[in-house]
Amino acid sequence: MKHFRQYLRAGTLAEAVAIRKEVGPKSLYIAGGTTVVPFASKGVDVLIDITGLGLDGTSDHGDLISVGATTRLSELLHPDMRADVPVIYKAASVVGSPLLRNMATLGGCLAGIFLPSDIGIALLATGARIHLRGEEQRIVPIGDLLVEGWLSGYELITEVRIDKRRPGTGAGFAKFGRSTVDISLVNAAAALEVSKGTIEALRIAVGQTGSKPVVLAGPALGAEGRDVTRDFIRESAEQVAASVRPKADSRASADYRKSLIKVMVARALTDAAAEAGVRFAD
Ligand SMILES: Cc1cc2nc3c(=O)[nH]c(=O)nc-3n(C[C@H](O)[C@H](O)[C@H](O)COP(=O)(O)OP(=O)(O)OC[C@H]3O[C@@H](n4cnc5c(N)ncnc54)[C@H](O)[C@@H]3O)c2cc1C
Repeated sequence: MKHFRQYLRAGTLAEAVAIRKEVGPKSLYIAGGTTVVPFASKGVDVLIDITGLGLDGTSDHGDLISVGATTRLSELLHPDMRADVPVIYKAASVVGSPLLRNMATLGGCLAGIFLPSDIGIALLATGARIHLRGEEQRIVPIGDLLVEGWLSGYELITEVRIDKRRPGTGAGFAKFGRSTVDISLVNAAAALEVSKGTIEALRIAVGQTGSKPVVLAGPALGAEGRDVTRDFIRESAEQVAASVRPKADSRASADYRKSLIKVMVARALTDAAAEAGVRFAD
């Protein structure tokens, strides 16, 4: 298998962390392997398989859903997820191809190099708590993981906790890539809380525009107290696009990404408004 020298199957969480700590940067955890196998650098020669640690599956905890880190994306595509955390269902259903979704895991999506992934952006808008295991356990908001920093050293993502959708809330996701199985050129998600058509809270996340995702919350958008109208959605999309300085790369120019941001944010917001029960007058 490529340049890898050793493939170790960890039996426990503690063992996985201990091996990674001992071998250091020459090792990587492997879950679905969809990124590690094709893209790991030549310097990595030890893979630590974490799929036998019992970190797969979803469980219902009343107001929230817990998803184990090695849960395959295809396992997220079931009716309960669609009802309880629809935006994660929406994002998971458009990651790559069915083949990829049968292998790729939630943890791999959040820790991988194609940052920020579609699911990461959806989770940034709605909020989620990430359970990590290094020498100790810690729980961090998704923003700390994807915006503020990264996994430290040999930390392992073990679980993601997501609040269930409540009445009066809605979340939308939109992405655009060169083809349906491509990594997005721009992805965007919006989470909205409304009362009688008036905004109580809004958070928008945009990815694939720079090395870090951009998250804008209600006060920065002047959203609280406003009615959700098509004009508001257009203005917000323009405001987000104006506040981001997108990267240019071989896949898209900065100007093209800027125009995509406007369209993706407007689509995500429209989707969120519909889910929150907003009816547009026109
Ligand atoms: C052809 C193709 C198309 C794709 N299209 C999309 C797309 O449309 N949208 C999108 O968002 N992404 C896309 N991706 C990226 C895809 O989401 C990732 O490849 C996948 O999520 C990685 O998950 P995995 O389980 O295979 O991770 P792996 O390849 O096993 O690991 C990826 C990285 O994460 C680390 N890791 C894995 N699990 C954990 C954990 N629990 N804790 C800490 N570190 C961990 C590994 O050490 C490695 O560094 C695409 C990838 C490919 C190859």
